[in-house]
Amino acid sequence: MENINIIWGNVTRQLQDEMSTVAFDTWIKPVKPVEVAGSSITLCVPGGSQKGSLNKSMLVTKYRSLIESSIETVTGKNLELDVCFENDNSSKALDDPIKYESTLNPKYTFENFIVGNNNNLAQAASLAVAESPAHKYNPLFIYGGSGLGKTHLIQAIGNYYIKNNPGKRILYTTSEKFTYELVTAIREKTNQEFRNKHRTVDLLLMDDVQFLATKELAQEEFFHTFNALYEAGKQIVLTSDRLPSETPHLTDRLKTRFQMGLLADIQPPDYETRLAILKSKIENEYFTFDEEIVEYVANNITSNVRDLEGALKRILAYAGIERTNTISMELAQKALKEILSTLPQRNITINVIIDEVEKYYHLPKGSLITKKRSNDIAYPRHIAMYISRITLDSSYGSIGDAFNRDHSTVMNAVKKIKKMVTEDAELREIIDELVTNIKKD
Ligand code: ADP
Ligand code: MG
Repeated sequence: MENINIIWGNVTRQLQDEMSTVAFDTWIKPVKPVEVAGSSITLCVPGGSQKGSLNKSMLVTKYRSLIESSIETVTGKNLELDVCFENDNSSKALDDPIKYESTLNPKYTFENFIVGNNNNLAQAASLAVAESPAHKYNPLFIYGGSGLGKTHLIQAIGNYYIKNNPGKRILYTTSEKFTYELVTAIREKTNQEFRNKHRTVDLLLMDDVQFLATKELAQEEFFHTFNALYEAGKQIVLTSDRLPSETPHLTDRLKTRFQMGLLADIQPPDYETRLAILKSKIENEYFTFDEEIVEYVANNITSNVRDLEGALKRILAYAGIERTNTISMELAQKALKEILSTLPQRNITINVIIDEVEKYYHLPKGSLITKKRSNDIAYPRHIAMYISRITLDSSYGSIGDAFNRDHSTVMNAVKKIKKMVTEDAELREIIDELVTNIKKD
């Protein structure tokens, strides 16, 4: 068997049986086989990014022997693994089960975490740390805005670690809880217990570390906690809403320590990731959602994942009140009306949409509402009709009025673009960008 693709195909089938789905998808899926030459086999991972280097280091350290032995089973040869970068430049303690239950949410797992371009480094780094703690990225510092999945990820590390390392001690805490417990310990003279609790764990997960910055005493104590754990070779994971360097009042020595490992950011999800998240959240719902409704939510709620979940909950609550299990567009629009009106956005009208689409396609003002049917105008017009339908509470008839067209023309245009959107990632991006522009003041 000489063909590298055939060899790699067989190797991956074996690896799939031996690894968890999440680990397989994170580390093995991005790999491209390159060649078998002499006594070595070369594989490539996407280069030019932190995610790529993380991927490479996981392959050559943690997964080397597993991959090499699968290769040996498949080829009968003992080949040495060589990993290169693709030149594309793109890119609790078990003795206290009650405490464990009360601090880690069992729903926050890697399996339930949808990976997109916005969070793939943070997810891969978290999984690496959960699989091989204190190996390379210590501390792991995850940062990003509110509602983007930091608590989910840091707890996923805890849930994963507990499951695979029974008997090890982990502690999930927040900087506020740490501060509160420290103050209580000082008052009640139980400093020693406080120290033991924080300095004898195998894995420390500290959520929302930005709040530590305002408390000098807590910073001092945490500095010593950090050092004690670090020197004992224990893994530390921190989350924050901003980079250490951008955290006011954080002492320089803590800044330095927080930056010693890997800084991994989480950005707001793009349209595709929002869709995937929504779909995963409604998968087990009793209610049936039309694709159109999921798209409506993904198009309108763009801020963060918490708001996406909030929107879904509202829709479900409305469906409950109306005693229906099929969710209509009207119901979804009604449910989201209030939330949308509290979000900072301009008053979107069909004219705003027409303006933005014309601008985007460099068309003279008013072109979309003319009778012209040439493709350079008809196509943007169809896009504008589609965006009007998905972002506004408008009927086909009223959209038609704005474009001087009848109801069925609009319906066909919307149908056509909707189909294209499912097949064309570039078009999805264009529409995402247009919707963002439309909502911006
Ligand atoms: P943060 O701590 O960054 O403010 P959370 O981790 O509390 O955000 O996330 C808010 C909600 O969104 C949680 O219910 C979480 O499960 C969900 N969530 C965030 N990111 C994702 C994702 N990528 N996939 C699935 N659910 C997510
Ligand atoms: Mg959080």
